[in-house]
Amino acid sequence: MSTGLIPRHELEFQLYEVLDTEGLLNRPRFADHSRETFDSAIETARRIAADKLQPHNRKGDVEEPRIENGKVRIIPEVKAALAAIAEAGFLAAHHDYDSGGSQLPWAVAQACHAQFHAANVATFAYGFLTAAAANLLETYGTEEQKRLYRTPMIEGRFFGTMAMSEPNAGSSLGDVRTRAEPAGDGSYRLSGTKMWISGGEHEMAENIVHLVLARVKGAPAGVKGLSLFLVPRYRLDADGRPAEPNDVALAGLNHKMGFRGTVNTLLAFGEGGDCRGWLVGPENKGLACMFHMMNEARIIIGMCAAAMGYAGFEVSLDYARNRPQGRPVDAKDPDGPPVAIVEHPDVKRMLLAQKAYTEGALALGFYLAALVDDQKTAPEPRRREEALLLLDLLTPVMKAWSADYGLAANQLAIQVLGGYGYTREYPVEQFYRDNRLNPIHEGTNGIQALDLLGRKVGMNGGEAFRLLLGEIHATAHQAEFDASLAGYGKALRGAATVAAEATGILLDARRSSGAAAALCNATAYLDMVGHLVIGWMWLRQALAAKSASPHHQGKRHACAWFFLWELPKIHSLARVLINLDTTAAVMEDAWF
Ligand SMILES: Cc1cc2nc3c(=O)[nH]c(=O)nc-3n(C[C@H](O)[C@H](O)[C@H](O)COP(=O)(O)OP(=O)(O)OC[C@H]3O[C@@H](n4cnc5c(N)ncnc54)[C@H](O)[C@@H]3O)c2cc1C
Repeated sequence: MSTGLIPRHELEFQLYEVLDTEGLLNRPRFADHSRETFDSAIETARRIAADKLQPHNRKGDVEEPRIENGKVRIIPEVKAALAAIAEAGFLAAHHDYDSGGSQLPWAVAQACHAQFHAANVATFAYGFLTAAAANLLETYGTEEQKRLYRTPMIEGRFFGTMAMSEPNAGSSLGDVRTRAEPAGDGSYRLSGTKMWISGGEHEMAENIVHLVLARVKGAPAGVKGLSLFLVPRYRLDADGRPAEPNDVALAGLNHKMGFRGTVNTLLAFGEGGDCRGWLVGPENKGLACMFHMMNEARIIIGMCAAAMGYAGFEVSLDYARNRPQGRPVDAKDPDGPPVAIVEHPDVKRMLLAQKAYTEGALALGFYLAALVDDQKTAPEPRRREEALLLLDLLTPVMKAWSADYGLAANQLAIQVLGGYGYTREYPVEQFYRDNRLNPIHEGTNGIQALDLLGRKVGMNGGEAFRLLLGEIHATAHQAEFDASLAGYGKALRGAATVAAEATGILLDARRSSGAAAALCNATAYLDMVGHLVIGWMWLRQALAAKSASPHHQGKRHACAWFFLWELPKIHSLARVLINLDTTAAVMEDAWF
């Protein structure tokens, strides 16, 4: 049975045929690398995924973390897998050589991480949280913080968390109540309760480094008064070794639908009056610093959702090829042999939809990863600026579209397996439960939609959105030179024009009638832009898939399916948006 890793040829197609990852070798930062070192990193990640992560994916789900004698117990396989990931350098794969990294392009690092997500998302969550926290310290930490905390994090000795949410402050971080008071020695005394903290307490690392959003006494209300603090579980002694406890107490575990292997905690900071934290970045700029981590994390969540969708696709494809059931509708002999269900058009539909959603989302994830590389290393300053604009604009689309449609793919995978898909004998139900978190955390999809329509499309006078449209039209133009794709080029142009019209009307409505009227259908807007962007990704893939190989033919066919069945949805969504529909917004509470 297929266990659902993303095949090598798919990763290579995205990196080397759709994107020009090898072209990065001409940039000084990557000059020591070669196609061989990229491939070898991907192969090592694949081995770790298959040997160390996948085998305990089910066990981690069934034997979820629990408290025993006041300590959080986690199955030992998790620690061993994370040690293998850290030892192979995957927590700092794209960091500088000087900081202990291997200076791999972000796109290659994401190809490695995608395999970890597909194999066992709950175990790798400790790794990607630690990597993202280390990354934040690399950017905003002092030299001392980097030496004392970041280095042990990328070595896998300390783990990291992101401690923003509180019981009453989830989407609305401006309501965070955790307090910080200067202690007079450069540190701060923290007090407050944080909810939902993934990886918040366990015995797998020498220390846990919490990155905590809190409000310094006297700070302004709302998000402008939030600062970011480094709060270790154990304070360090003079030699930098974890020593006395830092008054961070486990107040309880949350028991979840999926992602069960990742311990999720309610944490009390400073119940004993002596929890020390150290400021990271400037005071009252905590959210901006945290956004450094969150933007990266949102792309990673989108990749994770796509990878888990892909895992379900692989398992359901394998099942469909091996499950005999029924006969073709035009078969005359009721005693004739049954066919494998992959032969039934309705099953093919479900498989093709999974392929279109997940490979479309993966293509967008790799495109964004390449933008991260361009933003940091493109030789032309203008290209760096453009990459940053596109990244800002497309991050909420990647997070939310990929989370919604990666999950839709998992739902179809269960359906392909019929009754067996609904049992715990097969992994597809777990993929669905695990993936169900992705539309919720790292900013719910509703919040991503408000970010896209309320902030991103209008930023800098709409510059990023214009740039995106320019890129889409350029691909459409290219397709018009290929007889088999010219129709799709035209359809993409039409969809882009309609989406641009809806965007203009919504931005005008915001100026004339206020935010409430313009933003009330933000989720539908994100779905429309998401379909446009994924349609564009499919045309890019079809243009790159020129050979007669089954893989390339499958790409062109999936592009055709997306353009016939999904892209036209843009027009119906745009119609309702252009009419500034308020049906949901004006519904009164009592009418429910
Ligand atoms: C398993 C899990 C792991 C997590 N890990 C972490 C972690 O490691 N660190 C961390 O800090 N947090 C973590 N979170 C918290 C997560 O980010 C929040 O759950 C999320 O931001 C939503 O907050 P909430 O649960 O309070 O829901 P609410 O904010 O109450 O939202 C409920 C619903 O209302 C909608 N809504 C809320 N406000 C608005 C608005 N202004 N406009 C439109 N719709 C709105 C939301 O979209 C959502 O549908 C985790 C959560 C879970 C479930």
